[in-house]
Amino acid sequence: MRYSGLRVLVEGLRGNRGWRPAWHRPEPKDAYDMVVIGGGGHGLSTAYYLARNHGVKSVAVLEKGWLGSGNIGRNTTIVRANYFLPGNSEFYSHSLKLWEGLESALNYNVMHSQRGLINLFHSDGQRDAFARRGNAMINQGDDAILLDPDGVREHLPWLDFENVRFPIYGGLLHPRGGTARHDAVAWGYARAASRLGVDIIENCEVTGIRVEGGKAKAVTTSLGEIAAKKVAIVVAGRSSEVAAMAGLTLPIESHVLQAFVTEGLKPCIDHVVSFGMGHFYISQSDKGGLVFGGDIDFYASYAARGNLPMAEHVMEAAMTLMPMIGRARVLRSWGGIMDMSPDGSPIIDRTPVEGLYLNCGWNYGGFKAVPASGWCLAHLMATGESHEVARRFRLDRFATGHLLDEEGTGSQHNLH
Ligand SMILES: Cc1cc2nc3c(=O)[nH]c(=O)nc-3n(C[C@H](O)[C@H](O)[C@H](O)COP(=O)(O)OP(=O)(O)OC[C@H]3O[C@@H](n4cnc5c(N)ncnc54)[C@H](O)[C@@H]3O)c2cc1C
Repeated sequence: MRYSGLRVLVEGLRGNRGWRPAWHRPEPKDAYDMVVIGGGGHGLSTAYYLARNHGVKSVAVLEKGWLGSGNIGRNTTIVRANYFLPGNSEFYSHSLKLWEGLESALNYNVMHSQRGLINLFHSDGQRDAFARRGNAMINQGDDAILLDPDGVREHLPWLDFENVRFPIYGGLLHPRGGTARHDAVAWGYARAASRLGVDIIENCEVTGIRVEGGKAKAVTTSLGEIAAKKVAIVVAGRSSEVAAMAGLTLPIESHVLQAFVTEGLKPCIDHVVSFGMGHFYISQSDKGGLVFGGDIDFYASYAARGNLPMAEHVMEAAMTLMPMIGRARVLRSWGGIMDMSPDGSPIIDRTPVEGLYLNCGWNYGGFKAVPASGWCLAHLMATGESHEVARRFRLDRFATGHLLDEEGTGSQHNLH
């Protein structure tokens, strides 16, 4: 069933009795050509592009919970292509282009909203760094505009410009940056993949990976063993645990990232805004809630929930930047488990086990990467070659020292 305005009209006149489930819920088969472990954004997009771009007919996505239960349904929905380093910049640029055609490709409204993103800076040194970043973005073919304080004031008059400690010196505007509805992205990819014959199997936890003679042969699951010619581990915060099932140790630490949303307010924040002197960023959802977040928890953990010290840390940054937020009531907070890599950049690569692939290390920025990540992993699995925009996302860079350290903070997971 294709979705369209006409379909909404017709179904409205017929009492909405004709809608069908968005994706099939098949029983797992005994064997597939390709099995993707993890039904988050990256796993679903990998399966979709395997079927759509490469015509792979026999693909299953195995998800231990329900679609949208992981980080894909927990993030703060920011989509941008403002990376600086070669390796990252072409990848995220490719991803943003895919976002721009995603709704028609999937025939699904993912509410992609290019409302513009402004990164604030608060010193001369930071301005120089953002000017360089803006130039890199423009050289990459993306968009960037350096704003002085008056330029920022035009867009965001409600900020505290005269803050004694952190005065606002300007901002880097990325007009094509913005947001999308997070869980709709999972549903849209699931529906489109299912229409191409991908089996999406929820409530199917992978509990083991059978490796024989150095080759991945099958996965054991809560629904029985499933054989596969190729297996991809795409489980975000659980990457180390699942890779360990094949005897692999990953350079990944799992940390919690929290987010917060206020009660619904009238429209007051048009853009995505990020503070330059602390980790704080904010946007307003279409329902009116102010959605914001900040740093990850500094210690490793698998607890997908929030805690008060980090809540206080984020609220302090919020109040410093925009004291008016103190009048809004926080409705809820939540946490997701981030797969933090030592250099803050992802891994899309083969593993030393033949037929076993890895997609992880998205840190707190993997939502925007969902289209290109699936595109590139599908390319690698189907053709045996890394896609040109993901060539540097190699697993062995942590051994060879070819790091992709976007933040320049060194190889420490909790600093990226
Ligand atoms: C609070 C928060 C804010 C964020 N904000 C942003 C943002 O604004 N912009 C941005 O770009 N990124 C953001 N991110 C990061 C982004 O959400 C993640 O990087 C991305 O969603 C991770 O990929 P995924 O969607 O595939 O992960 P997930 O949705 O977590 O998918 C992994 C799936 O694997 C499944 N799984 C795990 N183990 C097994 C197993 N053994 N068997 C079967 N299935 C298994 C899990 O149940 C899960 O559904 C944020 C994250 C959080 C938590």
